[in-house]
Amino acid sequence: MALNSSSPSNWEGNEKISARNISRFYGSTRALADVSFSVADGEFFCVVGPSGCGKTTLLRAIAGLEDVDSGSVVIDGVPVTSPDLNRGMVFQEYALFPWRTVRGNIRFGLDRPSCECPDCETRVQELVDLVGLDGSEDAYPKELSGGMKQRVGIARALAVDPEILLMDEPFASVDARTRDRLHAELLDIWTQTEQTIVFVTHDINEAVTLADRVLIMDDDPGTVQSMVTVDIDRPRQRTAQAFVEYVIQVRDELGTSHSVTEEPLMKDI
Ligand code: ADP
Ligand code: MG
Repeated sequence: MALNSSSPSNWEGNEKISARNISRFYGSTRALADVSFSVADGEFFCVVGPSGCGKTTLLRAIAGLEDVDSGSVVIDGVPVTSPDLNRGMVFQEYALFPWRTVRGNIRFGLDRPSCECPDCETRVQELVDLVGLDGSEDAYPKELSGGMKQRVGIARALAVDPEILLMDEPFASVDARTRDRLHAELLDIWTQTEQTIVFVTHDINEAVTLADRVLIMDDDPGTVQSMVTVDIDRPRQRTAQAFVEYVIQVRDELGTSHSVTEEPLMKDI
């Protein structure tokens, strides 16, 4: 059952994903150093940290796309050893097939990506509707805006109704206004699907807008700095005092030396 609530007590005893002392080296570069945390079933969990601190490595380890050198990622009590349809991934750079239409790209997320049977077509159309792309089903990626491309990426990741959605800075390349719309749409989808979402970002405002909890990573080297529970009802107003206070708290935890980008707090005024 999804939580859709930021009450701290809900995180206990409801574990979906557990990272247990994971470390990952690339040669002599330490990308992750003894990282441990848990994500609750149905939680919207954000990971924030400066460039190079290991966010993508962490997400790929949860996806089963990346081996770890020590420790383990455990999902529903079972260690992750390979990718699984139960974990959908959305990438920053869309990763769409240019020769496939919107419908064709979304269909690729199904477990039978070439199948055009009525059931599969119905599912593709449901996904098109879910992400608000009706009318653009037959367009090719080059005809789409960045926001629309990312909607295709989200629909494709949702195609097999995974229990976990992993998102790596998915909205970093879209303009601020589109990003705000995508935040609202993603929160709607999350409410409907009751998925567990792990969302990586380097944008503090984005993390505080979306997250039940924010994991703050440090790049010295690839370690967990702290965790912040964002106890504000949704939808959240960026100009509200509580919102601003959480942004300041996360920024302080990150430390002023880090070059984490952040939009002006009062940009919505
Ligand atoms: P982030 O997503 O937070 O920017 P990454 O997980 O991409 O960080 O990278 C963490 C560290 O690991 C960085 O120092 C990066 O250069 C290094 N790294 C990541 N992937 C590779 C790779 N395939 N080969 C070598 N080094 C890598
Ligand atoms: Mg990254």
